[in-house]
Amino acid sequence: MNTSYSTEKGGEFNMLNNVIEFFKNLPVKKCITCGEQIEEQHKSYRNQCDKCVIL
Ligand SMILES: [Zn+2]
Repeated sequence: MNTSYSTEKGGEFNMLNNVIEFFKNLPVKKCITCGEQIEEQHKSYRNQCDKCVIL
């Protein structure tokens, strides 16, 4: 997962590529309560999984 961001290469395409790589490398969201991985199906800023939100 080591991505070196080289500039001055590829112009606009490279810039778009960098954006894609940026989102790929976003850390996985985890529930702050139980540590379970949260599936982000919606655009939300939840930091708890379904089980813990209900509680
Ligand atoms: Zn949880």
